[in-house]
Amino acid sequence: MAASNRVIDSLRLDDTFLTEEHRALRDVLRRYVRERVVPYAPAWESRMRVPDEVFAEMGDLGLLGLSFPVEHGGGGAGTRGAVVLNEELGRSTFGGVASSVSVHTDFSALHLSRAGDGEQRRRFLPGVLSGRRICALAVTEPDASSDLTRLTVRARRDGDCYVLDGRKTFITNANIADLFFVVARTGGPGRHGLSLFVVERGTPGMAGGRTFEKTGWRSSDTGELVLDRCRVPARNRLGEEGEGFGWLMRGLDHERIGLAAQAVGLGEAALAETTAWLRARPAYGGTLWDLQALRHDMARLTARLASAKTLLYHAAALADAGADPRTHAAVLKSSIPEIVNDLAYRCVQVNGGNGFVAGSAVERVARDARFLAIGGGSTEAMLDEIARSL
Ligand SMILES: Cc1cc2nc3c(=O)[nH]c(=O)nc-3n(C[C@H](O)[C@H](O)[C@H](O)COP(=O)(O)OP(=O)(O)OC[C@H]3O[C@@H](n4cnc5c(N)ncnc54)[C@H](O)[C@@H]3O)c2cc1C
Repeated sequence: MAASNRVIDSLRLDDTFLTEEHRALRDVLRRYVRERVVPYAPAWESRMRVPDEVFAEMGDLGLLGLSFPVEHGGGGAGTRGAVVLNEELGRSTFGGVASSVSVHTDFSALHLSRAGDGEQRRRFLPGVLSGRRICALAVTEPDASSDLTRLTVRARRDGDCYVLDGRKTFITNANIADLFFVVARTGGPGRHGLSLFVVERGTPGMAGGRTFEKTGWRSSDTGELVLDRCRVPARNRLGEEGEGFGWLMRGLDHERIGLAAQAVGLGEAALAETTAWLRARPAYGGTLWDLQALRHDMARLTARLASAKTLLYHAAALADAGADPRTHAAVLKSSIPEIVNDLAYRCVQVNGGNGFVAGSAVERVARDARFLAIGGGSTEAMLDEIARSL
């Protein structure tokens, strides 16, 4: 696994924005990723899923639920904990592993902590935080685009149940999840008609659909969830009826910060790999590093990534201090994945043929960074969010 970027390390962002506990957590995660992810992830890429045992192992090591409050059994590490986790997973250069784990622990299950009541937390959180019950977030639908107010999966109240009908698509962890956090329409059109449910695998009326083969994020499992008169107990509704959109947006703010952190991790790894490659690659009586054009490339990309990372850490620290992260999340999500895509393109270029060969780290980063500009709120959707406040 690639070393860190010495220039970015020398900025001492960890010292400024993180606590000693966050820094210790980073050490544990970095070692875990180096020893338990990187050697095995190529096999997970081929199987298009992260094995269940990885979640259980991370649970046993206390690496799940880092951003959950301590009183809910979590790590109490806040948004900065999620940033450290996502950055280190991104640094593995396996974006699929990063997405599969972060969807489980941060982007879906955190709703239990935020919107759930005591009984729901007691019922679900032990399995989630121990990694024995894997989670997925089911929002996207085949006929509803980034405009989440158009979601149509229906939830009709019937006695002590809701009956869910419709199809969710592009669900990370669809085939491996035990708990699906499903946004469904309990009321009229628009954002106020949506509610949030936990649908447990094995509930009659729920089934899988297609599994998608993807250009990148290959070790993450992506599929469909089909709901056909699926009777979900009313006690599995998180929060009040009609509150689903609000909870979803709060979750998406957190997700967008996490995805920006994954991008930073991928970018740092690609830069470190590429710098090492340029220094070692013989050319013209020296190495490629002797060419100023290529050295400047690495310097320019490092400076851009360092600026992006500074804003990321600043935003996470503010969120932990209680600030509303909405604008920060949109700014980070609209910019950092784009910066890292440019970076990845350039890293492939200066790695020459080596950067185009399947399985090389920079080739994978270039594929995996691509989706970070699309998923969880595309660059364009985020720019719209920013423009609304201008
Ligand atoms: C690998 C993978 C994993 C995923 N995981 C999950 C998951 O776990 N759970 C889940 O619910 N969903 C998941 N998704 C769905 C993902 O979040 C969406 O694909 C993404 O948000 C984009 O939405 P869309 O595909 O509907 O694109 P569309 O909304 O149809 O967008 C198409 C194009 O229009 C542009 N566009 C959209 N809105 C605007 C705007 N306001 N202004 C200008 N241009 C705009 C977009 O940027 C894009 O270029 C996943 C998708 C993939 C491929």
